[in-house]
Amino acid sequence: MNHLSQNIRVAVEKDNPSLERIENKCVKCGKCAALCSNFVSVNNHYDLMKTGKSVCVNCGQCIKECPVGALVGKEEYRKVEALLEDKSKVFVVSTAPSIRVGLGDEFGLPAGSFVEGKMVSLLRSLGFNYVLDTNFGADLTICEEAAELVERIKSGKLLPMFTSCCPAWVKFLETFYPEMKDNLSSCKSPISMFGAVIKTYFANKLGIDPSKIVNVTITPCVAKKFEIRREEFNASAKFNNLPMRDFDFCITTVELAKWAKEKGIDLKSLPDSDFDEFLGKSSGAGVIFGNSGGVVEASVRTAYSYLTKKAPSSLLLNFQDVRGLNEIKTAEIEIANQKLKLAVVSGLANARKLIERIKQGEKFDFVEVMACPGGCIGGGGQPKHIGEEKTYQEKRIASLYERDKQLKVRAAHKNPQIVALYDEFLEGFASEKAKALLHTSFINRSKDLAGKTQKAVKMLQYKCTLCGEVFELDEQKEVICPVCKLKGEKIIKVGERKTD
Ligand code: SF4
Ligand code: SF4
Repeated sequence: MNHLSQNIRVAVEKDNPSLERIENKCVKCGKCAALCSNFVSVNNHYDLMKTGKSVCVNCGQCIKECPVGALVGKEEYRKVEALLEDKSKVFVVSTAPSIRVGLGDEFGLPAGSFVEGKMVSLLRSLGFNYVLDTNFGADLTICEEAAELVERIKSGKLLPMFTSCCPAWVKFLETFYPEMKDNLSSCKSPISMFGAVIKTYFANKLGIDPSKIVNVTITPCVAKKFEIRREEFNASAKFNNLPMRDFDFCITTVELAKWAKEKGIDLKSLPDSDFDEFLGKSSGAGVIFGNSGGVVEASVRTAYSYLTKKAPSSLLLNFQDVRGLNEIKTAEIEIANQKLKLAVVSGLANARKLIERIKQGEKFDFVEVMACPGGCIGGGGQPKHIGEEKTYQEKRIASLYERDKQLKVRAAHKNPQIVALYDEFLEGFASEKAKALLHTSFINRSKDLAGKTQKAVKMLQYKCTLCGEVFELDEQKEVICPVCKLKGEKIIKVGERKTD
């Protein structure tokens, strides 16, 4: 056992792709443990003494909670920076919806500042050859997910359909509720759909050898570092019959800001620049994917059109019932004489509550779950503002809805580049080719909760009154502070637990 008690702090494995702990900064305050137990409902839902290994869904919310910066995202930007020297490669970068309303914080701009143009300039000045918009990937997800929702509603099977774009939520369900994994939409997330499209359609259209592409996604989310490494996200390798991953690197908002600062670039001083024309345009529906409720609102806009052959109603262009920071939101709508019951959840402890309601018999048709407060805008890779998070979340949410309002095309299936992609390459909505590139399946991870059973022991927790170290020892062991080596009565007992 390499970890301290789960009551003291969350256990983080060295091979966790999303986060790490800087050991000498940790003051063992317990805040990460409380957050992971109460908001994420992972930490106190497994027994470390049984598993011998941490269970983590990679959400990164503990990073946001740690008051001393001991928990941080695993950085990848230095690897990308080094690779950018290789002129034989083609560097493609794409940016998730929430980056453009979070990045400005790191450069002293007001909360929620919409810095899309400056963000694109920054990425060009760092040396990327193509700067694309993940919002295009969100439009693609919406088209596939709306088609899947309509199909499930018509057949009455596997309802409610759960959204599947939040990798922490997907891993949570795979771990704690694997019996419901078929309720997850089989759609990949916008990022993972886009990764497959970039190394196939995009490469073909532009005459680029896909094996030369270094594909980088910028995300507000540290769980995406886990998602892009899921074994199954290699559709481009199968398509091209070449060894490759759909995405090669994932960099967070915080990392991007750090990289810019190290290069001496001040975001504020940069001019605005546009995304590349090809695969750089999205609808307003793609924009709001960053907000809690955005996936449901965006998908229902398109599902409405699929079912009625009409443009989305004004209610669905401003769907207040699913917006905002409430942790569980519900709404009912009627489309083509069909009543739909919707739920939108942020925070995995709240998802657990909703799942229990569903298990008790409450009916829903479509449920969106995001692990982070307010959705991706509150992701573990976004700049943090301890004590002011809610204010920042509200401003970022408002900024994305404002952008949606400004765009002419507000339904994903009306994005002309999406229409062209289906016509030229994917062979229609929900086609076999679309299924191969854009859909996935899920796995049962419940065995991660069991592990090998160890003999029951009584663990005693102590605090050293000299250096402040909090530590845990088997009751059989001699009590010596592991930091300052103090022994005796100046070490006070602060708790105990029995393993089983
Ligand atoms: S200092 Fe950070 S890592 Fe250490 S216990 Fe507190 S919240 Fe957790
Ligand atoms: S990343 Fe999320 S699940 Fe993992 S320890 Fe931190 S809060 Fe818990």
